[in-house]
Amino acid sequence: MTQGKLIYEGKAKKVYETDNPQLLIQEFKDDATAFDATKRGTIKDKGICNNKISAHLFGVLETHGITTHFVRLLSERQMLVQRLEIVPVEVTVRNIVAGGMAKRLGLDEGKKLPNPVLEYHYKNDALHDPLINNYHIFALGLAQEKELGDISRYSFEINEILQEFFGQRRLVLVDFKLEFGRHKGKITLGDEISPDTCRLWDKATNKKLDKDRFRRDLGGIEQAYQEVLRRVLS
Ligand code: 5GP
Repeated sequence: MTQGKLIYEGKAKKVYETDNPQLLIQEFKDDATAFDATKRGTIKDKGICNNKISAHLFGVLETHGITTHFVRLLSERQMLVQRLEIVPVEVTVRNIVAGGMAKRLGLDEGKKLPNPVLEYHYKNDALHDPLINNYHIFALGLAQEKELGDISRYSFEINEILQEFFGQRRLVLVDFKLEFGRHKGKITLGDEISPDTCRLWDKATNKKLDKDRFRRDLGGIEQAYQEVLRRVLS
């Protein structure tokens, strides 16, 4: 597999073309940003942890029938993925109140929700990824009705699979963000699943083992990412 032109560089990842137009290389960086990139830093070896964690979780989801863009690991920081036509909607699934939901609705962080809450956010940094609903998505032409039905169904299924997977590893899946795209006409999971995009709390102590340690200056960030990797691979 030959690495081609850099076609995208984001806050945490770079994407390269390959000699196959259908395939891309996704490379994970150690850079971290928060609060619309007003806070910046580096988390040593975060890229290695997130690459390995995402690869493993995509594999778990595939065994449960979820179609993902993951093809295979290429190196410590790179994975080969299918090229997707990205749906510009970020899907958030929440099991416990935290972060944006606590702030938006004036709720205490840590309250267990009686049912999972699914949110759509318009993927647009300049607008700070605003909360939208299915009517906005159809009116803006971001996805078709059938596609959004698949996206919400897969998101709830992924929540069930990941809650069980993390639960067996003494981790509570508080909330997470997913991104989907189209591949050969099928809605396909893209992006990454990692402590950058999930809130994960230790089951016994509620210790935060995710990017909130960076966002909130809690220290021990590198160790938290290594700990999640260790448990995911256990
Ligand atoms: P919140 O809306 O509470 O800030 O985030 C909910 C969940 O989605 C958290 O697990 C958070 O890490 C993830 N999330 C939401 N938006 C983004 C984003 O733009 N980048 C990353 N890395 N994660 C996000």
